[in-house]
Amino acid sequence: MYDYDLLVVGSANADLVIGVERRPEAGETVLGSDLAVHPGGKGANQAVAAARLGARTALLARVGDDGHGRLLLDSQRAAGVDTVGVLVGGAPTGVALITVDPSGDNSIVVSPGANGRLTPQDVRTAASLFHASRVVSTQLEIPLETVVEVVRSLAPGSRFVLNPSPPRPLPTEVLTACDPLIVNEHEAKVVLGDAAGVSDVPEDWARLLLAKGPRSVVVTLGGEGALVASAEGVARVPSVKVHAVDTTGAGDAFTAALAWRLGAGASLAEAAAYAARVGAAAVTKEGAQVSFPTAEEVAAL
Ligand code: ATP
Repeated sequence: MYDYDLLVVGSANADLVIGVERRPEAGETVLGSDLAVHPGGKGANQAVAAARLGARTALLARVGDDGHGRLLLDSQRAAGVDTVGVLVGGAPTGVALITVDPSGDNSIVVSPGANGRLTPQDVRTAASLFHASRVVSTQLEIPLETVVEVVRSLAPGSRFVLNPSPPRPLPTEVLTACDPLIVNEHEAKVVLGDAAGVSDVPEDWARLLLAKGPRSVVVTLGGEGALVASAEGVARVPSVKVHAVDTTGAGDAFTAALAWRLGAGASLAEAAAYAARVGAAAVTKEGAQVSFPTAEEVAAL
């Protein structure tokens, strides 16, 4: 019996957002809106998304011993995430400095801070969390050697889900552990490298990615839904028609929902169909974590 449906290993950031009329040139100062501070980072987002759906969720992450770190711990606990694996100190909490112009375009500078200090040793020290978790998910906002250690720490019978964001080429040891590898179009192209050039068709990327070793692959296609690929073939997962207000965090909500449903015994196609509903619900509200739906809200969609 597992204590957790999902263990998320990943980043936790404070998102500092200022609205601007236009971005400053080098050496220039512009005035912006009041500052908004939101809990974010792909790991923290996935953990909150899963917990809001009802998954028993733990987060393994590192934050600074500062106000942003406390904000992140508070938001995790408020969502029902077990924060026993959240380490504190070593560097300031990761920060994303975000400016948004009137057209909605944003420019982002990320300081990884404590996320960059989540080490392979931290993963080894958390071995009991891995043994207690049915599914483990991660992303690439923490060091790649830490992700490799996550793969090596998986308990027999547990399942590994990776969203390689921000994308980079992946070692075979990581690729072959993924079940599934979850990518959007941009991530698919980076992971495939030169091989991506042979086709513009997402079904082909899914097949090419599968040939790199994952047991299954999911390609998310925004408002177009998603694709699932495994030894059984490639299938489309339709999107749910909604009025999209803000797509921030849709991929994190999708990944968390998919990981949770797979752990509960759903097939890849069933889990992806549920995750598409969760992703669709998440885009109907502003923001990332505050936009993640409960299971009741998904059912009502
Ligand atoms: P992000 O990086 O913005 O969090 P992403 O690029 O990783 O997102 P998307 O493909 O944009 O991921 O979205 C994930 C899933 O959420 C999609 O596969 C789809 O099921 C759902 N989704 C996203 N945008 C929409 C939309 N406009 N309408 C309906 N569903 C959507």
